[in-house]
Amino acid sequence: MRENYTLTRLYVNTDLSHRVEIALSKAQQHYLSSVLRKNAGDRLRVFNGRDGEWEAELSKLTRKEAVLTCLDNLRPQMTAPEIALIFAPVRKHRTAFIIEKATELGVTTLQPLITDHTQFSRFNLEKARLQSIEAAEQTERMDVPLIRPIIKNLDDLMQMWPKIYAGHSLVFADEALAGEPAAQSAKNVLETLSGPCALLVGPEGGFSVRERDILQACDFVQTVSLGPRILRADTAALSLLTLWQALKGDWTA
Ligand code: SAH
Repeated sequence: MRENYTLTRLYVNTDLSHRVEIALSKAQQHYLSSVLRKNAGDRLRVFNGRDGEWEAELSKLTRKEAVLTCLDNLRPQMTAPEIALIFAPVRKHRTAFIIEKATELGVTTLQPLITDHTQFSRFNLEKARLQSIEAAEQTERMDVPLIRPIIKNLDDLMQMWPKIYAGHSLVFADEALAGEPAAQSAKNVLETLSGPCALLVGPEGGFSVRERDILQACDFVQTVSLGPRILRADTAALSLLTLWQALKGDWTA
């Protein structure tokens, strides 16, 4: 059991080492002074996804700026198993839910994708980054997920595949297989997979016939069922990610 869990945790971009000073952003300054009512001299924890987790002292906190001084290393950097989630944006608060919960569940890449039946195609990359950073800070993970810019259709994703997802298998959750006795279950497929992997979950409207045809023609795609019930997009994404963590990720020990 670690002793420092109660110390506020912040993600920063700066390199971290003993005595290094870190000038925090305006938003972090506001969070520390106005929301948490911290004072100069208070201790916190910082991480940057590269240098492990450090204890730091709030060496300066004014209405204009906040500066931390990095003290001791608390934990070495750990590398999380790589897993990408490709999802179609849904209603605003449900997309935020997917980002927050997938970050808690250890996703390393989040890839928004507009599909034929996507109804809410707006996706604010900057906001999504802030949401995932906040979730990563809360959840004790040592890195933040990479959030890729939205891809505007499945055809473009397939075209870019060799460049951005080289060597990855694509596990495609197809609602048309719900309850089909002959369908491959996600569990059976994930168990047999080796190497890097991306999970694909559609929007509330499901996938189009055209998209199914494109996906089924690709040799790196494995089409799977998530059981007899049709799950909402957010439930499907988080269930598949959970299953992957249990079979292939860091819940396997
Ligand atoms: N409106 C669609 C359901 C879409 S569910 C319909 O009524 O058929 C949203 C997404 O969750 C789907 O595109 C799929 O990726 C995933 N999903 C939900 N339930 C599933 C299941 N039982 N098997 C496989 N994928 C499922």
